[in-house]
Amino acid sequence: MAGVPGRCKKGISMAKVVVLEKDVADKIAAGEVVDRPASIVKELVENSLDAGATRVEVELEEGGRRRITVTDNGCGMMLEDAVLALERHATSKIRAADDLYAIRTLGFRGEALPSIAAVSTLRILTCAEGEETGIAVTVERGEVSAAEQRGAPRGTQVTVTELFANVPARLKFLKAVPTELSHIVDLVIRFALSYPDVAFRLSHNGRAVFASQGSGDPLNTVVAAYGREVAREMLPVDSGEGAPVRVQGYISRPAVTRTSRSYQSFFVNRRLVRTPILTRALDEAYKGYVPAGRFPIACLFVTVDPAVVDVNVHPTKMEVRFAAERDVFQAALRAARQALAGANLAMPALPPRVEQSIQVQTAGERPAVAPPPAPSAGSGAPVGEALEDPFAGLVVREPVADLAPKGK
Ligand code: ADP
Ligand code: MG
Repeated sequence: MAGVPGRCKKGISMAKVVVLEKDVADKIAAGEVVDRPASIVKELVENSLDAGATRVEVELEEGGRRRITVTDNGCGMMLEDAVLALERHATSKIRAADDLYAIRTLGFRGEALPSIAAVSTLRILTCAEGEETGIAVTVERGEVSAAEQRGAPRGTQVTVTELFANVPARLKFLKAVPTELSHIVDLVIRFALSYPDVAFRLSHNGRAVFASQGSGDPLNTVVAAYGREVAREMLPVDSGEGAPVRVQGYISRPAVTRTSRSYQSFFVNRRLVRTPILTRALDEAYKGYVPAGRFPIACLFVTVDPAVVDVNVHPTKMEVRFAAERDVFQAALRAARQALAGANLAMPALPPRVEQSIQVQTAGERPAVAPPPAPSAGSGAPVGEALEDPFAGLVVREPVADLAPKGK
């Protein structure tokens, strides 16, 4: 190409190399993190969970296209932090590159808030613990337009409106309201499964869509999400303590299947992930039990040392890489097979006593038992005091999956 400055092989005109203006760079980065309302809900809920919230409420208008509000009772932010958090690579969660190998929080990239703010109008109302007053920050298309003191309960509320108003190409790719909504319902259910000790509430256009109790038992979330009939057919899975890879959770009896994998959820160190390893392990375990084209319901939690899993391989952190894939596959396969092998003899995951308590709960009253955290075969034992129902009076729909478009 010597002698033809500014032209590349294909004849495309090549100008000088320049560093992009901030707003252009922000929009490019936003494209990786934020592609639809569900990805915004994911980032905001992750922030709430990282902030130690025990209640997370998601309110949507028009499938999130018109408005997304996420409210939590977490640690909140001080003024400087709330403004700084809007800068790219601003995070309170890691300090040095080495920290990337010991991640115990859901966020760490410091990209979510600036990415969302670059393509929307974003309002933060937050109050840190011990502070007299809260603060409100408004960002329009990436620029902070207002920051003021304002009374607020402890915790954080983030509201996103005008989504993609400045990115018409992306706006065009948004799907109809029911589709965007069903992605968010799926997502919130999965957060609720992974954080059984957190009470989630999801509403759409003012109507309650889903609520989890935050009782500590993921099986209660299975009931809230997929219905009591399904929960009754779930088998507890647990590979046991001590091994470097532990696999726990619930899988359905082979008679209970679905036509898609959308009822299968996999978590690594409580992070929702897509991982072909666990999908394959599950398929393998059910070989001969379920016909082709049918998929068991599953909710599997893998616990490994954070040092042997790389969570920084994907912009939305949905994919992870294991140092020892085979071990993870084998542990999942063995645990699922064990659960299935005992299926005929084993007690269902939902002992009669818990069923009763759930019946009471879904009727909007106080649960009779508060089962211990973490999925385990023995989760039916009554422990401790009755829990306060954080959303008393709310009628829990079941199954919520009815909202998903048919044929998914
Ligand atoms: P990351 O989560 O990767 O750190 P984000 O852009 O999502 O990056 O958030 C930036 C920072 O803002 C977080 O590290 C955290 O300190 C603060 N923050 C965001 N959301 C909340 C929240 N709901 N409650 C408390 N702090 C928050
Ligand atoms: Mg985050």
